[in-house]
Amino acid sequence: MLSLMAKLYEVIVLMFLSLISKITTTSSNTSTNVSIIDGNSYQLSWRLAVETNNIRMWRTVPAQCIRYVENYMLWGQYARDLDVVIEQINDYVRDLAMVELIDGMDAWILDIDDTCISNLAYYKGKRYGGDPFDPAGFKAWVQRGVCPAILPVLRLFEELVEGGFKVILLTGREEEALGAATMENLRNQGFVGYERLIMRGPEFKGQSAVIFKSEMRRRLTEEGYRIRGNVGDQWSDLTGDYVGDRTFKLPNPMYFVP
Ligand SMILES: [Mg+2]
Repeated sequence: MLSLMAKLYEVIVLMFLSLISKITTTSSNTSTNVSIIDGNSYQLSWRLAVETNNIRMWRTVPAQCIRYVENYMLWGQYARDLDVVIEQINDYVRDLAMVELIDGMDAWILDIDDTCISNLAYYKGKRYGGDPFDPAGFKAWVQRGVCPAILPVLRLFEELVEGGFKVILLTGREEEALGAATMENLRNQGFVGYERLIMRGPEFKGQSAVIFKSEMRRRLTEEGYRIRGNVGDQWSDLTGDYVGDRTFKLPNPMYFVP
């Protein structure tokens, strides 16, 4: 009788413990899920909307996204996202290479800032886009000519040049003030062998990038270039007129250029 009582007691204790453990596990699972959702959902949605051009004309990274953008840029996801786009470009270039490049007029257009060379070090001091654009500060940074190459894009650049494409660098940077520094920066980072560097002349001062870049692409097309591909980190690099056979958007959640 005593041993039966002991057995019954043991069963009740086990049931009780199991119930407690179930409650704890459920509540801890729930809180983990909630914290994952709470930690990322708005920031991810914001970045997705920015990258898909659904949010436009934004001036600063929203306060609740600054830390997220910092982590995104610094801890690997930016590099992984970049690699996925470059892989797609490489596949497309391989398909293109099947077509004979006859007359040397098959061109690629590459943007410069945060496409060929990186301004991440500058934006670190601007809270990764949390602070509004500072034209004088950015100009001073560009004039130093120290933007590092974005390496997967440098490799793409080299492959395009070696493959016989004419690579045209098209940038909204002002030619008069920033021409020398830009050329030097491109050279010191290995961007050598491009067909042409097109910068913003005085007649396009104050114009949007879409208008300026569309007009430059129109002129190139009239010269006889076939724009096979167009790569940029801003939608204003890739929209408008004469955008090319294919466009590729590189990630950049730090700023918006109209
Ligand atoms: Mg750019």
